[in-house]
Amino acid sequence: MISKIIPEDLITKAKKAIDIVDKIVIVAHVGPDGDAMGSTLALWHYLMTIDKEPVVIVPTSFPNFLSWMPGSECVLDYENYKEKSDELIASAELIFALDFNQASRMAKMEDSVINASAPKILVDHHLHPGDFANLIISCPEISSTSELIFRLICRMGDFSKINLACAECIYTGMMTDTGGFTYNSNKQEIYTIISELIKLGVDKDDIYRKVFNNYSADRMKLMGYALYKKMKVYPEYKAALITLTTKELQEFNYQNGDVEGLVNMPLSIENVAFSVFMREDTDKIKISLRSQGSFPANKVSSDLFNGGGHLNAAGGESYTTLNEAIKKFEEALEDYKDFLE
Ligand code: 5GP
Ligand code: MN
Repeated sequence: MISKIIPEDLITKAKKAIDIVDKIVIVAHVGPDGDAMGSTLALWHYLMTIDKEPVVIVPTSFPNFLSWMPGSECVLDYENYKEKSDELIASAELIFALDFNQASRMAKMEDSVINASAPKILVDHHLHPGDFANLIISCPEISSTSELIFRLICRMGDFSKINLACAECIYTGMMTDTGGFTYNSNKQEIYTIISELIKLGVDKDDIYRKVFNNYSADRMKLMGYALYKKMKVYPEYKAALITLTTKELQEFNYQNGDVEGLVNMPLSIENVAFSVFMREDTDKIKISLRSQGSFPANKVSSDLFNGGGHLNAAGGESYTTLNEAIKKFEEALEDYKDFLE
């Protein structure tokens, strides 16, 4: 028996909202990761089994290492299918927004979703949910949105409607948002749920291989280059920084998702508790921050880089040059010394 984290009235309202509609659009955040894909596709599979007409639309394309996910071939990305996506969003009867807390995380898709007449249900595990949805299921204490989708389906009385494809998607999100159960993963109920998913036929070892052992040679070389040539360690601040310019990314034939996980690697160094990765993008610098223990990666991100996220995994952006972003980071390190254990 797992505990009832989501309040009963929200379950009733969500169930009612689903019951009375057919056309349901499910959206996630820009740069969809394993949990964004896992939660949206899990919900998509579930809604298919109860004879709804769901469609998953993501703001930008998802990484290749998630293309094995059942149902991913039906996912639309707004970048490449804007017109069709706009039509589907405008004619939706219900919109689920999964795995993000602020409307701006939908990037170029934001206006389309916000202006849609359909009621919106947010299901998410980030702190500080925005108020753009009519129903907000926000549980920051849960380590993945995919786990929340499992809990939501079960509480709506539909555990029996979770098929293998749905279970695989739930497992993928739970696994990726905890770094393969290496952080945010001490809650016992995670393993109760996994046990249920395995009973449904999930091959967890196979999913691990498909997600984490699926690099292209270019991606592997880029990681090696980044660690060997571009990583700077600041021992007095227990911090590390990796930066990559557009030119460097191009040299390694960069594809979406190729630097996924890179920011975690310096945390394997003894006495590094805070790791930052900056990547030059076309119009901004994209920043990923990770920490261990009580060091607040999300605070640094919101203080310096207009971002946010979780205590140990956060992200942000900078509209300066890469060198200016590096300078800002280095100058600020001293301010966070007190957070080091
Ligand atoms: P990642 O480094 O994998 O892109 O993001 C890690 C976490 O940081 C995400 O789950 C999300 O919570 C948060 N995050 C990433 N980018 C942004 C951003 O630009 N703004 C905010 N507020 N949060 C972000
Ligand atoms: Mn997530």
